Amino acid sequence: MFAGENSSSLPEAKVLAEITDPLQVEFRNVTKLYGAVAAVKDLSLGVHQGEFLTILGPSGSGKTTALMLLAGFVGPSSGDIRISGKSVASVPSYHRDQGIVFQSYALFPHLSVHRNLEFPLEMRGMKAGERSTRVARMLERVHLKEFGDRMPSQLSGGQQQRVALARALIADSPILLLDEPLGALDRNLREQMQGEIKSLHREFGKTTICVTHDQEEALTLSDRIVVMRAGQIEQIDAPEALYDRPTTRFVASFLGEANFLTDREFKIEPNACPAGTIPMIRPERVRITPLTSRLQSDTDERQFISGAVVSMIYAGPLRKYEVRVGSSVLIVREHVAAGQQTFGPGDIVQLELLRSDIRFVAN
Ligand code: ADP
Ligand code: MG
Repeated sequence: MFAGENSSSLPEAKVLAEITDPLQVEFRNVTKLYGAVAAVKDLSLGVHQGEFLTILGPSGSGKTTALMLLAGFVGPSSGDIRISGKSVASVPSYHRDQGIVFQSYALFPHLSVHRNLEFPLEMRGMKAGERSTRVARMLERVHLKEFGDRMPSQLSGGQQQRVALARALIADSPILLLDEPLGALDRNLREQMQGEIKSLHREFGKTTICVTHDQEEALTLSDRIVVMRAGQIEQIDAPEALYDRPTTRFVASFLGEANFLTDREFKIEPNACPAGTIPMIRPERVRITPLTSRLQSDTDERQFISGAVVSMIYAGPLRKYEVRVGSSVLIVREHVAAGQQTFGPGDIVQLELLRSDIRFVAN
């Protein structure tokens, strides 16, 4: 065997491990009808033990219904749901001893923070001494050690969400369900809590299924992301793969910004574009430079197009340009570097596209 063969077999080994990892949660052709509306339609999905899986989709795409089905709050109209290999489709929530915790509940307003965390332990019949120890440890873990005696109304929104998360974690169940866990928070706090959830996941290793409509949250937290649309799975992939290689127009536009290169000016050869697809490029993949006397000549790797700047928006470390090319407007994003030339409305510019950055997505 050559030395190089060793390293090339590594990714394969990883793929194999992923396939043989036990599935902790499995949806098998699950449909949930509400009258004529299929909230979830023929959903098949496996979640591995210890995985952080995010269900991402617009409002009404069936995300919460998927979690409710798993938690047993609603039953499927057809199909099967398995937890650790056992069918639970006809088992009501309170009989599902697989230990699912649903975070979306509000805190009990009449109980202190300490009592809120103690409640699930008390329900399980844990003795007072051990309850106190566990609650104290968890409060410390979520940086709320000094807040045990406060009532929920005496906490900020972010603190309340941390308590809710702590209460979900303390129950010590193998599966954690989070429904828009950071929905109510402002940007800074949300970023901070994302870091917190990630490190809690690393520490506790629970299989976590998180629902969100926030693409940034999904990209930051997840091992894999499921994009849902109208009750069905549009694509499942690791965050980077999903962003870099979206398979459909819907995914390309829902996750990040996408430029669809339908105008003839983009010079996409018709035979390069598989049937039923359209070419797409991400805004940060387009290079914008001054157009001096004439356009550079295209090569096998690159193509050059001229355009007219419509607008420039300065957004902290990034500049966002809108550039008119033929009848379309292309979005270009670039990092602001020292001494770099800026363009303003009306400027004629040269756009450089690497052909390998162009993706063909189902229309
Ligand atoms: P999401 O969480 O992605 O916003 P939901 O799972 O809440 O979506 O809803 C999916 C679809 O099912 C929507 O069209 C919604 O109106 C419908 N739906 C959800 N729950 C019910 C219900 N209890 N009764 C009737 N329709 C429902
Ligand atoms: Mg929802």
